[in-house]
Amino acid sequence: MSIFKDKTIIITGAAMGLGLAASKAVALKGANLSIVDYNAEALEKAKAEIQSVAPAAKIITVVADVSDEQAVKNYVDKTVEEFGRIDGFYNNAGIEGKQAPLVDYDIHIFKKVIDINLMGVYYGLKYVIPVMQKHGGGKIVNVASVGGIRGVVNQMPYVASKHAVSGMTKNAAIEYGKDGIYTNAIAPGAILTPMVAEAFKQVNPADPKAAETTYAQRNPTRRLGKPEDVGNLVAFLLSDECQYVNGQTIAIDGGESNLY
Ligand code: NAD
Repeated sequence: MSIFKDKTIIITGAAMGLGLAASKAVALKGANLSIVDYNAEALEKAKAEIQSVAPAAKIITVVADVSDEQAVKNYVDKTVEEFGRIDGFYNNAGIEGKQAPLVDYDIHIFKKVIDINLMGVYYGLKYVIPVMQKHGGGKIVNVASVGGIRGVVNQMPYVASKHAVSGMTKNAAIEYGKDGIYTNAIAPGAILTPMVAEAFKQVNPADPKAAETTYAQRNPTRRLGKPEDVGNLVAFLLSDECQYVNGQTIAIDGGESNLY
């Protein structure tokens, strides 16, 4: 299946978790990939892993910290140098920060979460959108979270940054829809990635697996999400099969955010 034949997609935070799963999903459907991460070693391993499932995929790696504006400009420039265009952008890199009550929250960690999750997403939009405008459009998927539509105890900066991602998604959608650029966000619930495994360690350091089981029992589907669940949604949102959806934040959480 080659729905992304001759299409180029940038994926940030691609070395593991949701970025890696989406990279595999779009590579399997024929995309050229520019994968970006600040963990250079893990990024090379990810490239090999993607190529093991999609041997024909053309992939470049660019090491960048998305909170550094020049590094973002550089990953966009490198992608255009290599492939000439950008059709899809999965603006995914993000961190959770440390869990703590808001009055005790470490201000340095607070600012770091905002720099990566909010400014990193903004810089991506700032440099990718002009390239898409030149080529008549494109598809963007930003990564918010259920923490972008609900509060989450002890995660003040994460929730602030992810609500901002949802807001920036609306603005990008209404400012650039006229250029054929469709911008949406996804709001994953708990998807079992390295980030979420780390969160369960913080919730129950003695028995993270017990924290995971308790959490899964709250979900209407009685399970956590899999990175592949999210990768497939992202592939659809980035594809030409998805039309006229713009400015939405789409929950992928087994329905958990509907619980009262
Ligand atoms: P992860 O920690 O498993 O993977 C994140 C990847 O992003 C890593 O490879 C990391 O090196 C990279 N990264 C982090 N900061 C970076 C930076 N400044 N510059 C470049 N690369 C950076 O996390 P994940 O669970 O895959 O999360 C990916 C995105 O999805 C994040 O934005 C996260 O907030 C969001 N999200 C995840 C879940 C979940 O349940 N896993 C739920 C909601 C939202």
